[in-house]
Amino acid sequence: MKPFIYDYTHDQLLQWMKDNGEPSFRADQVYDWLYVKRVKSFEEMTNLPKGLRQKLTDQFEFVTLTEITKFESRDGTVKFLFGLHDNHAIETVIMRHNYGNSVCVTTQVGCRIGCTFCASTLGGLKRNLTAGEIVAQVVTAQQMLDATNERVSSIVIMGSGEPFENYEATMDFLRNMIHEKGLNIGQRHITVSTSGIVPSIYKFADENTQINLALSIHAPNDKLRSKLMPVNRRFPFEDVIQAIRYYLDKTGRRITFEYALIGGVNDQVEHAEELASVIKDMLCHVNLIPVNHVPERNYVRTPRNDIFAFAKVLEKHGINVTIRREQGHDIAAACGQLRAKHMESTAR
Ligand code: SF4
Repeated sequence: MKPFIYDYTHDQLLQWMKDNGEPSFRADQVYDWLYVKRVKSFEEMTNLPKGLRQKLTDQFEFVTLTEITKFESRDGTVKFLFGLHDNHAIETVIMRHNYGNSVCVTTQVGCRIGCTFCASTLGGLKRNLTAGEIVAQVVTAQQMLDATNERVSSIVIMGSGEPFENYEATMDFLRNMIHEKGLNIGQRHITVSTSGIVPSIYKFADENTQINLALSIHAPNDKLRSKLMPVNRRFPFEDVIQAIRYYLDKTGRRITFEYALIGGVNDQVEHAEELASVIKDMLCHVNLIPVNHVPERNYVRTPRNDIFAFAKVLEKHGINVTIRREQGHDIAAACGQLRAKHMESTAR
């Protein structure tokens, strides 16, 4: 199969033009059609010579994301289930905040990490997405927002999949998102979330970007984390924390710890105290995420008062805490739920 045009970064497009005997400004023109005018075919790139348009058509595909379903929540959250060319399905979410519109993208079809509270991992990993398939999620979201003159102002890589197990595609996607001739999204408005793939955390720290990093920590110690996140057996708690310390030293940036609160499992005051003892000297922020009910695991939501008690302990230790505002609760917005339902219904 031909590569997707969105797989290419600006630098790669420049190289392609060079290799094909075209002047370098043609790369800017193509980039402008892709990211600023957001056309859906090479035919529409009318300032390119016909011969070049034909060459592009012969060598590249446009990514086709087919909208299988789109749910719009009362709070403005829009959740897409997109079909890919090989009949796989992925989820993308647009979240409306008072500071702008954020898109949550998916980096893999399914996931092999196996977090016990997550629907995305139920059928395992099917395949990695290409950079272009990740880009297309944001461009498609932007095309939808174009109708109301809105723009995508931030991106979170927190959809299905582990971005650091699809590292190169994720990095090419990021290069395209921040390029000043493209969507030009501020690096500080982008967050990559990992479950703790240690070698990739080191690599990312060395990339020298301003892009935010979030670690799904979800437990204050090795034993409990291994129970909730099997990936912790591959990359133990201590090693992950050490990698995060390296990231902090190297970048001078703040780390966000994502902590899914599961009723009676990891949400007690003593868990908060233990977590604080590990992270209180770090430049960090903790985002508490009360999990949705997972019947297969007997997981229940943490009661409101316990959520506040947990947050209070962290604050007492001088740690910055937020409790994630729930969005799209009425449309199964949690990671992987829509795709899981779709897989169930197509299997029937
Ligand atoms: S939470 Fe993220 S890393 Fe964990 S199983 Fe789900 S998609 Fe994979």
